[in-house]
Amino acid sequence: ANYSAVLAENRKLHNEVQELKGNIRVYCRIRPFLRGQKENQTVVEYIGENGELVVVNPSKQGKEGRRSFKFNTVYSPTAIQAQVYSDIQPLIQSVLDGFNVCIFAYGQTGSGKTYTMTGPEGASEEDWGVNYRALNDLFRISQMRESTFKYEIKVQMMEIYNEQVRDLLSSDGSQKRLGILSTSQPNGLAVPEASMFPVNGTSDVLDLMDTGLRNRAKGSTAMNERSSRSHSIVTIHVHGKDIKSGSSMHSSLHLVDLAGSERVDRSEVTGDRLKEAQHINKSLSALGDVISALAQKNAHIPYRNSKLTQVLQTSLGGQAKTLMFVQLNPEVASYSETMSTLKFAERVSGVELGAARSSK
Ligand code: ADP
Repeated sequence: ANYSAVLAENRKLHNEVQELKGNIRVYCRIRPFLRGQKENQTVVEYIGENGELVVVNPSKQGKEGRRSFKFNTVYSPTAIQAQVYSDIQPLIQSVLDGFNVCIFAYGQTGSGKTYTMTGPEGASEEDWGVNYRALNDLFRISQMRESTFKYEIKVQMMEIYNEQVRDLLSSDGSQKRLGILSTSQPNGLAVPEASMFPVNGTSDVLDLMDTGLRNRAKGSTAMNERSSRSHSIVTIHVHGKDIKSGSSMHSSLHLVDLAGSERVDRSEVTGDRLKEAQHINKSLSALGDVISALAQKNAHIPYRNSKLTQVLQTSLGGQAKTLMFVQLNPEVASYSETMSTLKFAERVSGVELGAARSSK
């Protein structure tokens, strides 16, 4: 079969699905209790099969303390990495058909963002997060199509810290500041100065991820501190060429582990910490504004308000597809952060998710 025809058919199919589902999806994932945490003290009262979630306020009795939410999907704490990935696999595959895709993990520090996107530290294949699985999968599928379509897969990794973009794949680990180009570059590169490497197999995937994680840790004395205060972006560029017709395409997949969304008490922080908190706040709300403007199909999309939304501009909006993992910490002590995370989710999904509704 003529690959271009298959591609056109795929695109048509994607468009039809998109019409039905919209191109913004919100998946909620609740992390399990960690060792030593009290399992009976959870704010999650109910998880439905169709994306329903009921959260209970620990200090309010009865109906008043209950809020129900609706997402495209809710994962219970027992959901494994392979299950989560298999749900988003079609989205990943659509990148090879020419679609731009952005996948985010949003939530307070400790809610499982890195677990979902990368996996636990030193993860075995079984525990790999979305980053490893997506890269491997893109490579695998591109191999399968080899006889009709020639693909090139390249990777960049960046960090945005205090509204500065830095390279995470530079060979010397230097973290020089990078500029962002205005959008609609023909090659799709928003940050052309960031190092870029081809992926030709699983060992390349492992090496690149390793370098990125190491460089990310280098920027600070206390790794966890810094990584929770910066956004990390893995960008996968796909160039494809139809061997017969010679026609070509470019698309990209951005995998974003966002900075922790927790609010910082202004009375308790000063100096650098306060500056960091303000930058995070600004960029997360800019992201929320962009996605909710897209969900509501507004004419004006405010991309210019943060570095994060500028870097991602070509992959947010238009035909692009966006998926947000909203990560929740089930502990009672996190109740108010959990509620603010859920409010953000409600805003980006562009529909009233039933905020004021109480369950049953
Ligand atoms: P964040 O990136 O939001 O700060 P992490 O991904 O570091 O959070 O998760 C915090 C802790 O919880 C880590 O020890 C991580 O391994 C663990 N964790 C998170 N999600 C899961 C999960 N689904 N299953 C098992 N452990 C998890």
